[in-house]
Amino acid sequence: MTVATDLFDRQLRDLRVSVTDRCNFRCTYCMPKEVFGPGYEFLPRDQLLTFEEITSVVGHFVARGVKKVRITGGEPLLRKGIEDLIGLIANVDGVEDLTLTTNASLLARKSRALADAGLDRVTVSLDAMDDETFQRMNDVGFPVATVLEAIDIAAEAGLGPIKVNAVIKREVNEHAVVDMARHFRGTGHIVRFIEYMDVGNSNGWRLDDVVSADQILESINAEFALEAIPPNYPGEVANRFRYLDGEGEVGVIASVTKPFCGSCTRARISAEGTMYTCLFASSGTSLRDVIRSGGDLGATIDEVWGKRDDRYSEIRSSNTARLSVPVEMSYIGG
Ligand code: SAM
Ligand code: SF4
Ligand code: SF4
Repeated sequence: MTVATDLFDRQLRDLRVSVTDRCNFRCTYCMPKEVFGPGYEFLPRDQLLTFEEITSVVGHFVARGVKKVRITGGEPLLRKGIEDLIGLIANVDGVEDLTLTTNASLLARKSRALADAGLDRVTVSLDAMDDETFQRMNDVGFPVATVLEAIDIAAEAGLGPIKVNAVIKREVNEHAVVDMARHFRGTGHIVRFIEYMDVGNSNGWRLDDVVSADQILESINAEFALEAIPPNYPGEVANRFRYLDGEGEVGVIASVTKPFCGSCTRARISAEGTMYTCLFASSGTSLRDVIRSGGDLGATIDEVWGKRDDRYSEIRSSNTARLSVPVEMSYIGG
């Protein structure tokens, strides 16, 4: 195996695979109803990569240095037979860490099958502990209790420790920071607070809406004292902090205020098989076309990664204005 490196010497180490662009939530920061309404046209089924195509793509990435694979979406558990795909990817030699990010709406009933198929862990998205705020954010009236129940069931099935992702938006769910820290302290699950990002075109992002990681940490620290701890591995996206009283840890993902492009080793594949080298890319390369025309998938990946010079967040920090027209989060998968 040779590890692919880009123009800034960043290795190809992680792959995020979106398996559907559809979702049963309409989170206001991701798929606002005004844009993703009844008339919205999602990808037709025959445009999606098949499970065999996804598995072949994963194999080619692993041969170039990828060790960690994350399945995402849209809502990945909406993809029919997802556990079969997990089984296929888990059997690819060299995949050391296979995870999935979900809104947990279908997790309770699928946890056992996912774990049996070889999924290592799940990340669950939850933005508040109170129904009023959470339902306003998911915009489909989905209750907090069902997510919490699914987290317990997933942990029992062996998919823990569970990371719980919370996107924090000013004047929307700032109060959720301390609520969530309090709830998940001592449970073994790890909350990771994410700065609200300017991804996609639909969420009407403004810098004023971002609650910085420093502000998030300050409000937790005022209730429960924290100290920084080292990353689990070089290039970890979340900055880690532990509670001084030994009740576990939290993370913050400061993609806006402290960008980490310098250590970004992630490639992304959309549900229709387009490879993106940055979350904020406005265009990608269709691996589906390469596969379906009998082309050389490995050579294509080498070429795309070899030319990679993305560092959107670092450039945006010194700029604050938007730089390009990025693809939607629900399409590329976060
Ligand atoms: N539907 C699944 C879920 O919500 O977990 C997986 C896909 S979702 C696009 C992946 C992650 O992206 C979620 O944790 C979500 O909160 C996060 N996300 C979506 N839009 C975001 C934004 N504008 N800023 C920061 N995070 C965002
Ligand atoms: Fe769906 Fe996840 Fe986007 Fe929410 S964040 S709309 S659950 S894809
Ligand atoms: Fe990686 Fe692009 Fe995010 Fe920078 S902006 S960390 S290059 S995905």
